[in-house]
Amino acid sequence: MEVVKTGDKTWENRHETFVEDISDLYELGNQASLDALTGYNDTTKGLQGLIADAIATQTPLRALGSGWSWTKIATVNSGVMLDTKPLNAVFDITATSVSPAYPGDPKYLLFAQSGNGIWELGAHLKQRNLSLKTSGASNGQTIAGAIGTGAHGSAFDFGAVQDFVVGIHLIVGANRHLWLERASAPVVSAAFIQNLQTELVQDDDLFNAALVSFGSFGIIHGVMIETEDLFLLDATMQRLPYDDSLKAIMQTLDFTNANLPGGSERPFHFSVLLNPYDMEKGAYVTTMYKRPYQPGYQPPVDNTAGIGPGDDAACFMGTLTEALPALIPTLVNTVLGASLTLFNNQFGTLGEMFDNTTLRGKLLSAAVGMPIAYAARVADLMLSINKTIGPFTGVFSFRFVKQTKATLGFTHYEHTCVMELDAPYSNTTYNFYTQVWQKLEDEQIPFTFHWGKVNEVTPQRITNMYGAAADAWIAARNKLLDADSIKIFTNPILQQWGLDTVLP
Ligand SMILES: Cc1cc2nc3c(=O)[nH]c(=O)nc-3n(C[C@H](O)[C@H](O)[C@H](O)COP(=O)(O)OP(=O)(O)OC[C@H]3O[C@@H](n4cnc5c(N)ncnc54)[C@H](O)[C@@H]3O)c2cc1C
Repeated sequence: MEVVKTGDKTWENRHETFVEDISDLYELGNQASLDALTGYNDTTKGLQGLIADAIATQTPLRALGSGWSWTKIATVNSGVMLDTKPLNAVFDITATSVSPAYPGDPKYLLFAQSGNGIWELGAHLKQRNLSLKTSGASNGQTIAGAIGTGAHGSAFDFGAVQDFVVGIHLIVGANRHLWLERASAPVVSAAFIQNLQTELVQDDDLFNAALVSFGSFGIIHGVMIETEDLFLLDATMQRLPYDDSLKAIMQTLDFTNANLPGGSERPFHFSVLLNPYDMEKGAYVTTMYKRPYQPGYQPPVDNTAGIGPGDDAACFMGTLTEALPALIPTLVNTVLGASLTLFNNQFGTLGEMFDNTTLRGKLLSAAVGMPIAYAARVADLMLSINKTIGPFTGVFSFRFVKQTKATLGFTHYEHTCVMELDAPYSNTTYNFYTQVWQKLEDEQIPFTFHWGKVNEVTPQRITNMYGAAADAWIAARNKLLDADSIKIFTNPILQQWGLDTVLP
């Protein structure tokens, strides 16, 4: 494995909202002179070597994806960060690599090294007439980075990114790496395990815990993903009255006789954006229906502000700046007017709809998940408290995600409504967030925090949000990692969240 020690002593996240002191940042790469599999196995050894060094020197270690998170989960104060993005080999899978017990068709499986960008995987799959099953609104994350926090889109009949991962090659220590998959859903053959020179561990609890584990279960070297046939999305964004019929859809996801382009047809994607300063014209409602892929369509184009049909508010709210409260409504309306263009029947693949984005300005983004039954109540509450604790320099967005199997996946309700609050970087925004979380708790509305976005996770809140699942996650971490590895894969935020417990 190639390791370039950059000598960097600080690291800043993509949104430039914090800077962390580190001891070094290593750029990793596969040995170009080796064939793909030999190179992969050589990198496994290289990663183990880095863990051995870290243990010997007592230096915390952490894998970095694209650095898109707002929380300090990819960083490690005074430790070494590993830039995994160049680790982007992909391996198409044939029947010899697949267990006879696997019920699916091997042609839909892809084994990807952890640094692959979501956009890279989409591009590779498209050449094979295949597609990822879902992504976030933007696709700049790495596959391991995206699953590390449970990144999601609004595929409410599928789930979040980690829900298409069916196997994980995990480097847990200087002398141990393993292939983790569910006992209830075996995927790979003995030949595959032999090729990776690894150890097979089939265990639902361990696998589900490792899925969303923010870098603290070791280094994910590769993942097996399930894909599907390439498809098109038929997307429309319209403004609809924020009335009882829209609220009913938000809290049931029942589309019978819906006043939407597809009528009663269940969309693949459904999202609602509320601009509290322009509710008379209604909510911005985006629907995307799945259609078989056929060439000859006109791919989606960005509007003059550079915003495409799948972009979420995080893509344009950074252009806002804090203003005097009296000016905020005009400011938000101006930015929205310039950024959001209504559109009808725009067609594109998943990767074309939810493509990479140009990050604009210092932005804060917070997101909480709640059972969909609370979606409309919370939306109403937000519009109302904005008049007392606001005005918020931003908008309220709602997306919908099917329940994840990941032990600490924040989209863990049967159907989760994810409310996003995107706004310019400022103390006022942070204060607004704090008051919103408090209000949700006062109103006894159950919710979870997106691990990668601005949040105020505390041990008490983790207990309230996850209960026994948090204990199961800690137990799984202790089972997979030995004492030395637990130590180097612990960072301050894990300690702050109380998830660093070492069991006797
Ligand atoms: C413009 C923008 C749009 C966004 N849109 C969405 C969205 O639509 N939906 C959504 O849910 N989120 C969204 N986010 C948040 C983002 O998707 C998450 O924070 C995601 O986890 C970031 O992925 P990353 O590759 O940047 O990982 P990083 O932020 O670099 O890392 C995330 C975690 O993964 C761990 N990790 C990374 N690689 C490895 C590895 N190889 N082994 C072990 N651990 C690893 C890191 O240690 C860290 O704990 C958005 C962020 C931005 C900036």
